[in-house]
Amino acid sequence: MYIEVILALERIFKRCGCRRMEVSIEQRILEIVKKKTKSEGGIVQSTLWGMLGIDNREGTKAVLSLVRKGLIKREPVVYKGRRTYKLIYTPAKAAEINIVVNLNPVIKIPCFICRELNRCGAGGYFTPEKCVILSRFLGEE
Ligand code: SF4
Repeated sequence: MYIEVILALERIFKRCGCRRMEVSIEQRILEIVKKKTKSEGGIVQSTLWGMLGIDNREGTKAVLSLVRKGLIKREPVVYKGRRTYKLIYTPAKAAEINIVVNLNPVIKIPCFICRELNRCGAGGYFTPEKCVILSRFLGEE
């Protein structure tokens, strides 16, 4: 469920142009690997890029960072005739790391309670570029 919340928040942040609150690629990858490890024993690295809409270079950099931190491990596999890696969450290491997620700043974003959220977007009648409520909020922050 956590990854669904992250993806929903990212959609809101993109609409708002609020880049400083974007969830890092590393966090997104970690949550997906965690979930897939639980359900399928891991995930093939190359399938991640499409899920996240990122390129191979960007994704590999984030994956290697997570491997260095000991949060995931990579096992070589052949997938669709190509050599790649299977990413597996390593909870023993992860248990040592305490990640605190503070949603308080996020909850203040007016889009969260806006009834026009589903109709709001670039070029539309409701758009973050022209929204007085959002502009006021960003001005206060
Ligand atoms: S109308 Fe304004 S407050 Fe509502 S979702 Fe769009 S940008 Fe956010």
